[in-house]
Amino acid sequence: MSSRKSKRRQHIPQRTCVGCRTVLPKRSLTRIVNGPDGVKVDPTGKAPGRGAYLHNLQSCWKKALPGSLARALRTELTDETIEELSLYMKNLADEQLD
Ligand SMILES: [Zn+2]
Repeated sequence: MSSRKSKRRQHIPQRTCVGCRTVLPKRSLTRIVNGPDGVKVDPTGKAPGRGAYLHNLQSCWKKALPGSLARALRTELTDETIEELSLYMKNLADEQLD
């Protein structure tokens, strides 16, 4: 353990939304993971595997599902996965609330 831990300013992990390419603190995004069980939504943000991040906004998911999400995860999305992600997406807001 280092004794010089700075007081977590500038230390927020930043991630890019693969839908709109905006860079944001990781917490504001939903993680999708390409893990041992395939591609899944990862609400904990801790599942093993390659992750990609998306806003909690339908518009970003709609942009990402046809291509950029698969590229970010270095895989291809199966029809099953797309269906699952689409179901998840339906519960999201369709535009920015703040
Ligand atoms: Zn976005």
